[in-house]
Amino acid sequence: MSERRSGADESPERGAGAPDAESPDILHLDMDAFFASIEVRDAPDLRGLPVVVGGSGARGVVAAASYPARARGIRSAMPMSSARRQAPDLVVVPPRIDHYRQVSTQVMALLGDVVADVEQISVDEAFLDVRGARRLFGPPERIAGLLRARIREELGLPSSVGGSVSRPVAKIASARAKPDGMLIVPAAGTAEFLAPLPVAAISGIGPTAQQALARLGVRTIGQLREVPRSTLTRVLGPRTGEVLALADGSDRTGLGRRVRDRSLGTERTWDEDLTDPAEMRRWITRMSDDVARQLRRGGFVARTVVLKLRAPDGTTLTRSSTLPLPTASGERMREHVIALWERERPTMPRLRLAGVRAAHLEPAADTPVQAELSARPAGWRDLEQAMDRARERFGDRSLDRGSTLRPSTDAAPPERPV
Ligand SMILES: [Mg+2]
Repeated sequence: MSERRSGADESPERGAGAPDAESPDILHLDMDAFFASIEVRDAPDLRGLPVVVGGSGARGVVAAASYPARARGIRSAMPMSSARRQAPDLVVVPPRIDHYRQVSTQVMALLGDVVADVEQISVDEAFLDVRGARRLFGPPERIAGLLRARIREELGLPSSVGGSVSRPVAKIASARAKPDGMLIVPAAGTAEFLAPLPVAAISGIGPTAQQALARLGVRTIGQLREVPRSTLTRVLGPRTGEVLALADGSDRTGLGRRVRDRSLGTERTWDEDLTDPAEMRRWITRMSDDVARQLRRGGFVARTVVLKLRAPDGTTLTRSSTLPLPTASGERMREHVIALWERERPTMPRLRLAGVRAAHLEPAADTPVQAELSARPAGWRDLEQAMDRARERFGDRSLDRGSTLRPSTDAAPPERPV
């Protein structure tokens, strides 16, 4: 039996890997045709067909296009009527925004499982700083490969990753890696990688600037570097320095200063499959309590709980639930995690692995404690904090809720109701 933990309180301090400034430790992960890929995953008959997600009415617009649809010239934001004219065999699927949001949470939870520093920038994209994760998982290429493989295996979805010493270059690289690929640009090769690319690859160089640059004979990023700075300033204005630093490979922009979307959790693999529902329930309860304890120790509350289940054949489910109020209460997390498990139980009668994770963490001080307390039996938080203190003093196994433990798996002490 093995237990693995990862998350905010385990990652090495930032800066520990700082001396090696030339490792391409900034990754940009972008899901491929996200909404369309989810629809194809959920309805495998659609595989290989030109699928778009979007409104089918007179004013409908393409929100996402699968790669077979893109091969027919379909692009997102295109009016659905023109898309249909262009591809008469187009399969139009109405959007299921809540569902996509749920899958997005699963993707972000998975990223947070591997890398502590994740900055989500849209529903299907995130920047990651893998300096901390390098110690555990190896160089950026391995981490990128691991993330893509896990997203593929656990969520059944394709993604692409770009890596660089610089955030904008990582984003350009992920776009070049698509679909379903990865491209890690070594620091020394940055200028060379960018040189042949069109200036439009740089985000923020829109059509007007592109035209102005074209009038100067500049179409590629390499050509940008040949233009006198004063001339370039007339076109790009205050962004000139930034764009030139990008073009010559000296940009080192990292993650933004926004609060990093952390998550933490625990999971457990069994050598012998778990088949007894009562035992599953006990483990899931126990893991919820454990994660809640990690939250309290770190001074966090979580807005989302994530349950992961793996069957003996490797099939893995990840399900998440958004909590009405952020919490660090094991009891509260347990309610939601058990509800998720109950829903999946028929499809997962045997378990090889289970995991519980808390995502979308916030500092505990920022949350409405009063509301949390009033929603629970009085003093619930006090009780859990007292249990934490006892565990810290007497060890992890000293206290457990009566229903949690059974002296079955390893040498657990006898039950001791609290
Ligand atoms: Mg995307």
